[in-house]
Amino acid sequence: MFKQSRLKSILFNKCPRCHQGQFFVSNNPYQLKVFDKMNARCSHCGESFEREVGFYYGAMYVSYGLAVAIGVGLFLLMVVLLSMDVLAYLIVYTISIILLSPLLFRKARLVWINLFVGFRPNFSSKK
Ligand SMILES: [Zn+2]
Repeated sequence: MFKQSRLKSILFNKCPRCHQGQFFVSNNPYQLKVFDKMNARCSHCGESFEREVGFYYGAMYVSYGLAVAIGVGLFLLMVVLLSMDVLAYLIVYTISIILLSPLLFRKARLVWINLFVGFRPNFSSKK
């Protein structure tokens, strides 16, 4: 079940179509010189990752949603459960978002393309 899930593509930097090829050039989001570099096509099935101009603008909304989810989760943990100061929460949240930004950038793009490209294990656009 997990093998065919879009979650596999999102979590493991895989092509949304075949779940075999790499979506980003490097698997490490903290390799800062290449963290945003994507392969133009899947090395396994040939699916294009450069869909159209401006396609990944929508990923900004996903990134925003992920950042808000982290903020709400951290608020519930620190302020509601642990009764910590709101200023401490804001400092930890700000530092967390800065440190997580390469990861959020990549996960947002993977979520976005997975909304439009479904899993088809035998797909090939290679000729
Ligand atoms: Zn592929």
